[in-house]
Amino acid sequence: MELSLLPNDIQEAHRDFPASLAGCADLDALMRLKGAFVGRDGSHAARLMDLLKAAPKEQKRELGAAVNTLKQQWEEALKTRQGELEQARQRDAALAKAWDPDLPPPLPTRGALHPLNRLMERMVDVFRPLGYHVEEGPEAETEAHNFDGLNIPQDHPARGSADTFYFKGQDGLLLRTHTSPVQVRVLRRIGARGADGLSELERSGGIRFLAPGRVYRKDEIDPTHSPMFHQVEGMIVGKGIGMHHLKGTLAYAMKALFGPGADVRFRPSYFPFVEPGAEMDVRCPLCGGAGCRVCKSSGWVELLGAGLLHPNILAMAGIDPAVWSGFAFGMGVERTAMMVSQTPDLRLFFENDQRFLKTMGGLD
Ligand SMILES: [Zn+2]
Repeated sequence: MELSLLPNDIQEAHRDFPASLAGCADLDALMRLKGAFVGRDGSHAARLMDLLKAAPKEQKRELGAAVNTLKQQWEEALKTRQGELEQARQRDAALAKAWDPDLPPPLPTRGALHPLNRLMERMVDVFRPLGYHVEEGPEAETEAHNFDGLNIPQDHPARGSADTFYFKGQDGLLLRTHTSPVQVRVLRRIGARGADGLSELERSGGIRFLAPGRVYRKDEIDPTHSPMFHQVEGMIVGKGIGMHHLKGTLAYAMKALFGPGADVRFRPSYFPFVEPGAEMDVRCPLCGGAGCRVCKSSGWVELLGAGLLHPNILAMAGIDPAVWSGFAFGMGVERTAMMVSQTPDLRLFFENDQRFLKTMGGLD
């Protein structure tokens, strides 16, 4: 059928039909469009049927076929669009059913500090009320700060390249093997005399500080060793500081860290930078001293090294050991973390498996 034979408004409606169809946002709109095109009364299709009835007899056959084709075309397109809109309505209904406004919203995943950092912060927090502040130093250190200033003999095995990472072609530059060079730096700073002839130590009357941080040693990676680990060291310098101050401070700190029942004991030991030197054990916080796997049935866990500052250490920093004295202590963060959280393998702390990091309840 020639479209030009149709009434103008039907021609126009047919041209716009695809756009009208696509513009139907819901089934109601589609039903209205359907009524306008193929409805029983007054629709475009009904009017074409009237035209057909009025047409001369010899044209009826051809005209009838054409009108039917057009009507079928409209009906099929309407049916397809109806299917699409019905599907969309079902989807919306399912969504509406699934959405319960009373349920709490899904919470975004929050970032958190690494368990080792949390433990280090906790250790620092224990000492803050005692007047300790935090001092920091570089991880790439000089031999002078890392060994010489700590009274470590020239032939000490720790100085060897089998134990220490040295920078190639940089004379005497290394990755610090402990946080003690921070103490050397601080001692030199507070021992240096200003324009008034007084040192910072003399002006302040004493200092107490912590040096938490990363250290490096040439250890093979295994369940209890890593070439990079963390330490928290502490130092106090003042007048008349003795072993009793050291013991009292650490006994208090262990109670703050492990609970009021924490008990400590000291054993004589040797470190080049302290005299006398001691190692401190804490009564196993897991079994309370009854004996377990972590304390190897001894009831005690070796936790830190400590001692009174060697007079040489003070003298090398320009501080008179006849006037000033002090103590130092250092503990391994990973070792403490493994003990507190009963983690048998150090490597878990560095592999960053979220499942492990999230369940480190023992370190909270
Ligand atoms: Zn135990």
